[in-house]
Amino acid sequence: METETRHFAKINGYSNEMKEQPNPVHQPKTGMRARTNKAPQPDSAPVLVNRHHPWTESAEDTDSRLAPASAFPDIRALDSNIRLDRTCLQRLDALLDAVGGKNGIVVVSGYRDLAEQTEIYYSSLRENGAAYTAKFVALPGCSEHHTGLAVDVGSVAGGLDFIAPEFPDHGVCGAFKAKAAEFGFVQRYKAHKEHLTGISCEPWHFRYVGAPHAAIMEERDLCLEEYVEILRQERAKAGHGEASYGN
Ligand SMILES: [Zn+2]
Repeated sequence: METETRHFAKINGYSNEMKEQPNPVHQPKTGMRARTNKAPQPDSAPVLVNRHHPWTESAEDTDSRLAPASAFPDIRALDSNIRLDRTCLQRLDALLDAVGGKNGIVVVSGYRDLAEQTEIYYSSLRENGAAYTAKFVALPGCSEHHTGLAVDVGSVAGGLDFIAPEFPDHGVCGAFKAKAAEFGFVQRYKAHKEHLTGISCEPWHFRYVGAPHAAIMEERDLCLEEYVEILRQERAKAGHGEASYGN
């Protein structure tokens, strides 16, 4: 635990960077607000959404953070209606620019409201069956796509399957993957974390958590479930109580 304490002390040093690169990840409507610049701060903790932690922000509040992906010069979107959180889009645009990804990578899916996730879930049940759906499609209300901070990307060279687009480790997709954390993104569902995330390996699904968090998660090989729990423990140790993480 000592190592963890030292490690998370590093987050304190990130506070200026956090200001320059606003981090929209938060636990909404918990009543907890950052009191000082000392980390970990509830408002900067990435929000956890999974089968045990449904999305709780109001549709109106989420909607106010969204912008169309097609408005960004380096983002190519499969559909002009695809929207994501503005900060997430700015960083995605910068990441795609950094790897020259515009012509090789397409945004296949972004923000989804409850109705859309419900439609996807039941159409996958019909077309792909229960086993496949349980592996790759989150329950309506429990999808990271409700946050506007999760994006599915596909290789233009691949088939652009809506649920499971190809996103190989080589070429421009490999370059995207290698640089993702630098721009605040993590591959959310990895094969060796399936027992924790409840979702099978999804090379195409990236979650924006902000660069400071992404760097630590990458360095320590932590999925969001593990990382949020460590932040919660750090907070409890710092005497701020147990409230608010993981809603
Ligand atoms: Zn996804």
